[in-house]
Amino acid sequence: MKKNYNKKGGNRHNPSVPHQDGDVQAKKHLGQHFLTDESVAERIGDTLSYSGYSHILEIGPGMGVLTKYLLKKDTDLHVIEIDRESVAYLKEHYPALEGKIHEKDFLKYDISEIFGQDQFAIIGNFPYNISTQIVFKMLALREYIPEFSGMFQKEVAQRICEKEGNKTYGILSVLVQAFYEAEYLFTVPPSVFNPPPKVDSGVLRFTRKDDFSLPVDEKLFFRVVKTAFQQRRKTLRNSLKIFDLPDNIKEDSIFDLRPEQLSTGRFIELTQKIQPYAI
Ligand code: SAH
Repeated sequence: MKKNYNKKGGNRHNPSVPHQDGDVQAKKHLGQHFLTDESVAERIGDTLSYSGYSHILEIGPGMGVLTKYLLKKDTDLHVIEIDRESVAYLKEHYPALEGKIHEKDFLKYDISEIFGQDQFAIIGNFPYNISTQIVFKMLALREYIPEFSGMFQKEVAQRICEKEGNKTYGILSVLVQAFYEAEYLFTVPPSVFNPPPKVDSGVLRFTRKDDFSLPVDEKLFFRVVKTAFQQRRKTLRNSLKIFDLPDNIKEDSIFDLRPEQLSTGRFIELTQKIQPYAI
């Protein structure tokens, strides 16, 4: 028998959208916007290459609109979902996922509990309220993650894929592009979600570079990038004062630039110059 999770009836975020019996009630604090367009779900499912790894982790499957298409691929699919109500729905509707539904917070869970030291890809129509943290966690686990794709707010997705010289180029663009090729794939309008978000969404893909090691200290690299962008309108000579560099080093013309003018490669070069003087 189908359970009715919708105790209040209707959709409290958008009363004009009919709510089907048995559907999960969207919870704002979990960033829940359920995709209702099957063709978009299928398109997102096709953004991974499914080669070079055999495990997939879907973050935030909700009621499984994307999961359904991922299950058709010949891979070992696991899903991680924080919402108990969605987990109950998935267990009822997707028996093929038995033993592979993890009712956990992606940001806190140790993913090696699922895949050990194996390589795995990440995919999802991600909860937008924690999208930046998801990307930071992915970067920390990059040794295990050759591919990552899915949906964010359009503006966030575009910003991450942006190249130097553009206004929206920032911390995440530099850090992601140090290790991955980042591609903005396509835009998705609010109308295909329930409830609809206020903004457009964008689907992106990260493909790990063959050489994703850094020739500089990683912590220092992250610190240099973050410090530079904290005052993005200043030249690096001014914004990086905190590193207390000797004058002859600061004379280098790279310090005349503003952070948005530096490619990932040049940020690495900058970190190399700073490294001998960093504590
Ligand atoms: N993929 C579904 C749902 C997208 S909404 C669809 O396209 O319809 C985002 C989903 O992420 C919700 O199901 C929400 O419960 C889940 N979520 C939110 N925070 C999470 C977290 N920290 N860890 C795992 N899942 C999370």
